[in-house]
Amino acid sequence: MRLKAVFLLLVTQCALLIAHAQTPRTYTSSEILLQLKKLNVLGSVLYIAAHPDDENTRLLAYLANEKMYRTGYLSLTRGDGGQNLIGDEQGVDLGLIRTQELLAARRIDGAEQFFSRAFDFGFSKSPEEALKIWGHDKILSDVVWVIRKFKPDVIITRFPTTGEGGHGHHTASAILAGEAFEAAADSTKFPEQLKYVSVWQAKRLLWNTFNFGNTNTQRDDQFKIDCGGYNPLLGKSYGEIAALSRSQHKSQGFGVPAQRGFSLEYFKTIKGEAPVKDLMDGVALNWFKAHHASAAFQQQVQRSVDKIAADFSAAAPERSVPALVELYKMIDEGIKEDSHYDDTYWKEQKLGEIKKLVEMCSGLFMEAVANTQYAVQGDTLKVTMTVNNRSGANIINADAQIDTTYVIFDQLKPNFNAIKTYNWFIADTAKLSQPYWLENEMNHGSFNVTNQQLIGKAENDPLSVTFSMMIEGKEFTFIKPVRYKFTDPVKGEIYEPVNIIPAFSITSIPEVSVSLQNNDWEIKSFKDKNLFTAPVFSAAGVALEPLIKDTVLQKNQVIVVHSRGIKGTPVSANNKEYVKLRTINYDHIPSIAYTKRSRYIYQNIDLKTVGSVAGYISGAGDKIPEALAQMGYKVITLKESDISAEKLQQFDVIITGVRAYNTNEWMNNVYDALMQYVKEGGVLVSQYNTSNQIGPVRAKIAPYPFTISRNRITDETAKVNFLLPEHKVLNYPNKITDKDFEGWIQERSIYNAENTATEYQKVLSMKDPGETEQDGSLVIADYGKGRFVYTGLVFFRELPAGVPGAYRLFANIIANKRQADNAPKKNDNQNQKIKLPSKFNGSGARN
Ligand SMILES: [Zn+2]
Repeated sequence: MRLKAVFLLLVTQCALLIAHAQTPRTYTSSEILLQLKKLNVLGSVLYIAAHPDDENTRLLAYLANEKMYRTGYLSLTRGDGGQNLIGDEQGVDLGLIRTQELLAARRIDGAEQFFSRAFDFGFSKSPEEALKIWGHDKILSDVVWVIRKFKPDVIITRFPTTGEGGHGHHTASAILAGEAFEAAADSTKFPEQLKYVSVWQAKRLLWNTFNFGNTNTQRDDQFKIDCGGYNPLLGKSYGEIAALSRSQHKSQGFGVPAQRGFSLEYFKTIKGEAPVKDLMDGVALNWFKAHHASAAFQQQVQRSVDKIAADFSAAAPERSVPALVELYKMIDEGIKEDSHYDDTYWKEQKLGEIKKLVEMCSGLFMEAVANTQYAVQGDTLKVTMTVNNRSGANIINADAQIDTTYVIFDQLKPNFNAIKTYNWFIADTAKLSQPYWLENEMNHGSFNVTNQQLIGKAENDPLSVTFSMMIEGKEFTFIKPVRYKFTDPVKGEIYEPVNIIPAFSITSIPEVSVSLQNNDWEIKSFKDKNLFTAPVFSAAGVALEPLIKDTVLQKNQVIVVHSRGIKGTPVSANNKEYVKLRTINYDHIPSIAYTKRSRYIYQNIDLKTVGSVAGYISGAGDKIPEALAQMGYKVITLKESDISAEKLQQFDVIITGVRAYNTNEWMNNVYDALMQYVKEGGVLVSQYNTSNQIGPVRAKIAPYPFTISRNRITDETAKVNFLLPEHKVLNYPNKITDKDFEGWIQERSIYNAENTATEYQKVLSMKDPGETEQDGSLVIADYGKGRFVYTGLVFFRELPAGVPGAYRLFANIIANKRQADNAPKKNDNQNQKIKLPSKFNGSGARN
């Protein structure tokens, strides 16, 4: 009991209070004890669902920390198609953010993270559609691969195959889990994987039933476990850990309160024997699982672990190091490499855990810190390596392998920083730190990854240094990432990942244009004395006049070169493909940097606009203002203080950004001014807001009532019917035809209007396959001399992608009311002339 009191004192700022995403993790004695106990648990559970945020974080926290199982979450997608509550990133950029949010969540709940190659292409109403777009066999092979690698005793799905999970991706994830449960054990399925892994039969497949309010799939006769317990070693209930973990999904606005007390999870058996007493009924969970080792050996390991845990001193954890090293040797020598694969699986797993415990118990500190955030091709990175044997454990002969060099540290003295530096030349040909799933051109519904060994991984292995040393006479090696460390006067010490980037970045300004035939190229150098030639080739491959020639740039120097009417595609500079560096920075995740092919998309659109000044009220973030500028509007972003009936008179149109009414509490305060503006002849356009899920609509939106539904049209090719073909919005200044709905991406509309007052005119209808027509994607009401528009059409996706018809329709929606009313009834016959330069039509990542 006294020991326990000491632990409670020691439970202070553990992993649950990580100051910053990349700060190296530290361990208290109570956390070490938890990990020690885990050494005798040989069991694993894999949870499978479709998206980041689908996972049950309380169950994961319970399985990883109470039951101490190796616990994993396989999210089929990276959530690329979701919404973004914190910024304007969409598509693969959002997937990168959500990947890191999931990893942040896993650092808190203690589970591991996996993904498949499936791309989140947006909401899907049926599993058939999802599996067709993903490629059924491709994603099934990924689920099988993760199962064969992870070897879960029990597999748990979040959703059923029967559709109660709603989203087609959800149902598809359950279908694939069910198929993979059997296929993973079948050597005729995906045999190409078997040179790396063995087949695996999990004991059972369960569905973790849910009660989501409107859908309750929990039944009293289902198997239940209480996951609401308290873990004194962590100083938290699983409901508290779950809330911290789930609240990492910041881009989805999923901050949730902590829960305490008894809390049941329900399970329905889908395949395998049903559990009666325990989730793991019939599964060996200790060292007796090592079938091919002798019973005496199994007992010896089991007892050694118990003894190390019993002898553990919270005040002097380093005293456990000699016994841990002995245990390491015992397992290493006792289970031979030619043993049954399942035994060596657990051998590798447990040796890794013991090594980590040796590091934790000895307070051994190792880090490799770079002097800059980026490792630049053709430049030198200065890396400082530190080893500190803080407890004075028996550790000698430390060295580090960096690049191809061994660096030897001075003899370690207790609590002494042994430091070495190394100038790491990053070859001009060094592989860029590109997220592995973005290396190849992607398909519509999946990423292309050819290296089987990378599939399933959450992210790339970082640039790293390997430290080696003798601990209690046994050599151990530790791989540590190279990190960039700096001190922010407000936030304190911050660590960021170090990415290998090219020596220059070339960005088109703008990237997509509907008005400018010529663009500017912004060239930024990331190293000094960067001799630079940027040739340009025509689409036919003929060399044109270079953008710049033999120009020397210094580090961080930026030059802007006008393209001077060059019609060809610039393909390379210094014999490399033109790429631009894309960076994404948020406090709750490590900074993200990757390269994209530089591109300039010029859409020669037959586009007419009416009016010249647009006011924009930003919501959750979108790129509509840039598109408006392209269309020739002067765009002024409006804050609350800018909005009065008087000040608004200068605007031809006021547009509210996506979810402006969800994110700005003050929209209620400006309602009267906005209505006054409309009454006097203004045009007010409200892009979609959400009715629920991500915060309620906080303010009145329109002059007449309507409600926001959760209806959406996910088929981006859905036939669009013109309910009011004579309506001005379909005719002026651009004559809208079927052609204007070609080439849309991801979806047509979301959060459509419904229950509209009679004043509203419904202009369009469309439907998803197998459903009924919906008419709420574009509703318009005249009010006074002006016009109010609510639209669920996804202009925030289509305009940045340069979709011509979306521009033409948007121009009509925002067309100045007074001028529009004075316009001739019938518009001139206009020929559609939309040229899509073949090189520029953006078949790559859709973001
Ligand atoms: Zn989901």
